[in-house]
Amino acid sequence: MKKIILTGDRPTGNLHLGHYVGSLKNRVKLQENSDYDEMYVFIADTQALTDNFNNPKKVRDSVLEVAIDYLSVGLDPTKVTIFIQSMISALPELTMYYMNLVTLSRLERNPTVKSEVKQKDFGSSIPVGFLNYPISQTADITAFDATIVPVGDDQLPMLEQAREIVRSFNNIYGDTLVEPKAVIPDNEVCRRLPGTDGKAKMSKSLGNCIYLKDDSETVKKKVMSMYTDPNHLRVEDPGNTKDNPVFIYLEALANDDHFKKYLPEYKNLDELKAHYEKGGLGDVKVKRFLYDVIEDTLTPIRSKRKYYEENIDLVLDILKKGSVKANEKANETLKRVKRAMLIDYFE
Ligand code: ATP
Ligand code: MG
Repeated sequence: MKKIILTGDRPTGNLHLGHYVGSLKNRVKLQENSDYDEMYVFIADTQALTDNFNNPKKVRDSVLEVAIDYLSVGLDPTKVTIFIQSMISALPELTMYYMNLVTLSRLERNPTVKSEVKQKDFGSSIPVGFLNYPISQTADITAFDATIVPVGDDQLPMLEQAREIVRSFNNIYGDTLVEPKAVIPDNEVCRRLPGTDGKAKMSKSLGNCIYLKDDSETVKKKVMSMYTDPNHLRVEDPGNTKDNPVFIYLEALANDDHFKKYLPEYKNLDELKAHYEKGGLGDVKVKRFLYDVIEDTLTPIRSKRKYYEENIDLVLDILKKGSVKANEKANETLKRVKRAMLIDYFE
């Protein structure tokens, strides 16, 4: 079986450090080790519209921003097909057929949908399109015969639902669709990076993000005002590093070289943590170090971003060519699906 990698992001704003450690870094690594047959990365504008249908401008503007974020972190359009979801007309068609295979209660039980419904305050007035998005996500995945989907852990229930739909489809119509597997980061803290406010997830919709596009001044402000251990009032007090986003970010981003370069009095993160837990280490010092580490990560990304911002035509061309290629692939799958469902009348 071919090894086909696919992932996407919603154009609801710029990409942030959570995306970087949870998914983007993994994608670039996968792209580079070239142990795959095809790789697709897409901008999920149709999905973004399910809960932003009244704000089309935000979605439209974010498409280009996300594309620039992709290219800035090192996704390479000669290796990866980058496309826009709404340009692929086979996707809503596949969604329509898969809808028959899923019950309303199954959708309502999906834990990620549940928490998002709460977060978005939909109450009992959930838009049908929103509730349906796990099904449309299954169309995205199966249209490309994806076997591997690198994501953060909030997407695991989506992948589970996709696998159920694939099994159910294949059971009824014969072996047609490929079952995908989620790949989450090895480093546990990267699977769901918390927000700068200490909330469980850094998320565009929650406004608690450090964006890949933030300039140094903005990053500094955000880091210096980050939530830490609320009981660590004086430097001498023993501190908690476990639920402390400052230490979690260090866990996700800092390596021993960063210590050598910026904080040589500690060998590694374990030593720094031990000191904080014992007492006698102030938050400001740790935050300054975190700022240096984030800057180290973001500086090369920013300089690439500048290049693409000055060459928007190039970005548009990449998206256009990627969408043409993705369309061909998805149309083939749609043909196969329609044949299996006996609705291939004039073939
Ligand atoms: P929105 O708030 O609009 O849903 P988001 O910030 O959750 O935006 P998505 O576009 O929904 O971002 O997610 C894209 C990918 O990034 C998914 O694979 C998701 O698991 C991953 N991801 C998003 N936020 C985080 C995070 N804080 N930590 C780890 N991975 C994340
Ligand atoms: Mg999300």
